[in-house]
Amino acid sequence: MSSRMSMAKVRVAFMCLLSGLVALPCLAAQEYQSGRVWPEPPKIDPGPSAPEGAYPPPSDAIVLFDGKDLSQWNGGEKWIIKDGVATVNGGGITTKQPFGDCQIHVEWASPEKVSGSGQGRGNSGVYLMGHYEIQILDSYDNETYFDGQAGALYKQMPPMVNASRKPGEWQTFDITFNGPRFDKDGKVTRKGYVTVLHNGVLIHNHTEIEGTTAWADAPKYNAHPEKLPLNLQNHGNPVRFRNIWIRELKDREPPKETKKK
Ligand code: MG
Repeated sequence: MSSRMSMAKVRVAFMCLLSGLVALPCLAAQEYQSGRVWPEPPKIDPGPSAPEGAYPPPSDAIVLFDGKDLSQWNGGEKWIIKDGVATVNGGGITTKQPFGDCQIHVEWASPEKVSGSGQGRGNSGVYLMGHYEIQILDSYDNETYFDGQAGALYKQMPPMVNASRKPGEWQTFDITFNGPRFDKDGKVTRKGYVTVLHNGVLIHNHTEIEGTTAWADAPKYNAHPEKLPLNLQNHGNPVRFRNIWIRELKDREPPKETKKK
């Protein structure tokens, strides 16, 4: 039983047991519905993919995948690495190093051969701190709920526009993330925020993160450290990745005061 199971679900399970029914079907998770009906993000053409090597890591970046190996990640041994590309296989991967506020560059491609539909087509995701998902999906002529399409802050906020390229074409996410802060009692003192460029196009402009981005649960914050590992999702689709790097963001040093002129 998940520790995140709500008391309501526990009560439902208890009632199922009382009524002599098998508990497991009663415990099947149900999709969380936010009750918000978003308008469809306009589809735009972001232009062609940049050639490989167009976004080299700056000198202060931590390179998380340079095409050679996934040694910076736990779980990477299952993924398939070929021709400088890592393909999702058999589970998600999680960085060995924890990260807090950061800038992330990720290049990804959904499978060229289209298979499945909706959330079943080219699904993966960038899980900031392992809790807050920026959705990866083949959203080129693929209907799904708008706060679940490529670039969505999953189940919270759709991208401002649909800047998806065709299946198989390389796409980029450039993410600026400010993580949430909690006081010693676990209360949120600052919500998380995210700004995202999809294929160079702004799709989130300092979007407030309402909490975790689960399929079955409403967003909520559970207190956690200021740094946690980054995760790339396995959703059973062979999504490809290349050139992943991250820059840790620190608060600016205050300026030295001097006489105004
Ligand atoms: Mg996903």
